[in-house]
Amino acid sequence: MMASEGGAPVALNERDAVDVLLRELGNDLVVVGDAIDPRYFTAYNEVPGVRPLALIRPRTVDDVSRTLALCSRLTLPLVPQGGATGLARGAVALGGEVVLAMERFAGIEEIDTAAGTITVRAGTPLQTVQEAADEAGFTLGIDLGARGSCQIGGNIATNAGGNRAIRYGVMREQVLGLEAVLADGTVVTSLNKMLKNNAGFDLKHVFIGSEGTLGVVTRAVLKLHPKLASPATALCRVTDYDAVVKLWHRVRATLPSVISFEAMWPEFYRFVCANTPGVTAPLAADDGFVVLIECASSDAAASASDAHAALEACLGTCFEDGLIDDAALATSTRQALDMWTLREGLAIDTLPHFMNFDVSLPIGAIGVFAERCRAALVERWPHAVSVFFGHIGDSNVHIGVSLADLPVYGEDAVDRVVYEVVREMGGSISAEHGIGRLKRPYLGYSRSAAEIEVMRRMKAALDPLGILNPGKVL
Ligand SMILES: Cc1cc2nc3c(=O)[nH]c(=O)nc-3n(C[C@H](O)[C@H](O)[C@H](O)COP(=O)(O)OP(=O)(O)OC[C@H]3O[C@@H](n4cnc5c(N)ncnc54)[C@H](O)[C@@H]3O)c2cc1C
Repeated sequence: MMASEGGAPVALNERDAVDVLLRELGNDLVVVGDAIDPRYFTAYNEVPGVRPLALIRPRTVDDVSRTLALCSRLTLPLVPQGGATGLARGAVALGGEVVLAMERFAGIEEIDTAAGTITVRAGTPLQTVQEAADEAGFTLGIDLGARGSCQIGGNIATNAGGNRAIRYGVMREQVLGLEAVLADGTVVTSLNKMLKNNAGFDLKHVFIGSEGTLGVVTRAVLKLHPKLASPATALCRVTDYDAVVKLWHRVRATLPSVISFEAMWPEFYRFVCANTPGVTAPLAADDGFVVLIECASSDAAASASDAHAALEACLGTCFEDGLIDDAALATSTRQALDMWTLREGLAIDTLPHFMNFDVSLPIGAIGVFAERCRAALVERWPHAVSVFFGHIGDSNVHIGVSLADLPVYGEDAVDRVVYEVVREMGGSISAEHGIGRLKRPYLGYSRSAAEIEVMRRMKAALDPLGILNPGKVL
């Protein structure tokens, strides 16, 4: 760690660096030692990791800018942190960094009903933005299970996908304008509200999905969509994965109001049905694939019963044509919630030494991928349990793997088996969760040497000292 004094770099030990942070930023912003709550150094669903050198909690963009300028001067590495719900261990320190937690820079700055945009601060929880959009008579195009805890800045930094991507696209498609602070403290404000703006490079795309390695996202302008009427939700059963794909094409062709199309492989559905207390499974757990379909109209005159009728009619013809074997339409909010609870599948987190994978492949290849992946795991560990589920409408499948004796082999061994199959089949090792720390060794499985070299050049140009989230992504 070096500091520059009168032009000459000065070596600083960690304690001196913390003293400089406290002196220059003040103890309203800087928290040190035991006063740092473990949640700031605990990745989602894991035991606490490495305590950061300091926790910095900015209240303004200027606080973020001063912090980064100071960290640059001290060559002190910094980890941006949102709601810490990320599943790639990207938001926690590895050792020797400070953590910049954005939660105090929260709130809605503006809703422009003419432009159909909402301007928000990075630390605002996703759910707060959804509720503000709803109150203003609009719908936000992004939704995911961690909505109550994850933050807009984290959603942008990970380019989150979620449950509505087939209707509205992923986070990248929601962002019209962005403000980010560079490693040297420069604030780049491009809070654009226009759909068309080709005045030079569109810089927001540099930061979206960069997982805190190229800049700290501070504010964003997001698109608002016409308000959705209450949704209709159904589960249906089909024979095999080919039938899932056929059903998807039928649904997208005949049900324009579809917002979610989520598939559960038989082993996954059986497990969550048996292990989710308080939820009554609307379809019995047997050998078929179960698909959750949700639709909602954005026609102002449409009602919940219109969505229900449209979904019922669509499923009726699918049944007559032999595309589905069975279906259950939710007749209450409670039933719809139960269907989503099964699909979100938190029950699988209780499997011993559970590992979660998030990959994407062309939709037609996912069935074969799942078979090959399971076979490769069982070939290596005959007792391996694997379950498959995901946002199949957007070519994204999640895999849960449980190996009772995982500590004997280590997570890397399982990663390699799964990602080898992804590589062989030309898929992506990260559909929506990002690379973070977890998938860093495998980036080359899904990106060419030339692509990685361009990423490195961008990193060197924007963060020449390498202080932003080191050890993540690249
Ligand atoms: C129950 C559950 C369901 C989930 N479902 C989905 C899903 O359907 N789709 C999906 O995509 N993800 C899902 N996730 C993963 C996670 O919620 C998302 O990745 C989310 O976008 C992370 O937001 P966060 O604020 O928690 O970010 P964090 O976990 O805090 O950070 C994630 C990454 O972004 C960086 N970062 C955070 N804030 C900033 C900022 N302001 N500027 C720059 N970098 C920043 C961090 O350094 C880190 O690299 C789910 C997670 C859980 C626990």
